[in-house]
Amino acid sequence: MAGKITLTMIKPEAVRKGHIGAILAMLSEGGFRIVAMKYMKLSRETAEKFYEVHKEKPFYNDLTEFMSSGPIVAAILEKENAIEAYRGFIGTTNPADAAKGTVRNLFGSNIQENAVHGSDSDENALVEAGFFFSELERY
Ligand code: ATP
Ligand code: MG
Repeated sequence: MAGKITLTMIKPEAVRKGHIGAILAMLSEGGFRIVAMKYMKLSRETAEKFYEVHKEKPFYNDLTEFMSSGPIVAAILEKENAIEAYRGFIGTTNPADAAKGTVRNLFGSNIQENAVHGSDSDENALVEAGFFFSELERY
């Protein structure tokens, strides 16, 4: 059965550009309920740990440098079929290819600075949610 939660981050460039409010409003309008949320800066080590699955990728170094370059907003979102629903809602990795009206189409800058993160599977959503939030921080 498809899971009900996904983990998102509003990435440092979207925060720098002042898009936190617009993105959170869009999520609410889109029917994603906020279960947990934090405004925080990832250390380089924490970003490296979060993206460990991409360690062998050529973009790993740049990505972890970027993700630790300023504060992010991390949140657990709840909706039926959350993973697929949210990935459709944010659009493809590269904002240049993202469907019109998606978060990355509206707020993404380039393939790295693409405004938001979204978990790619139910299994990873649980791991990523646990990375940021204890049970006591979820409502
Ligand atoms: P995310 O995991 O952030 O939701 P995604 O699942 O669409 O995005 P992944 O393949 O998991 O994309 O890559 C993780 C992140 O690494 C991307 O969101 C982007 O910031 C960066 N990234 C991916 N591909 C590239 C690339 N070719 N060049 C530079 N950065 C990239
Ligand atoms: Mg991914």
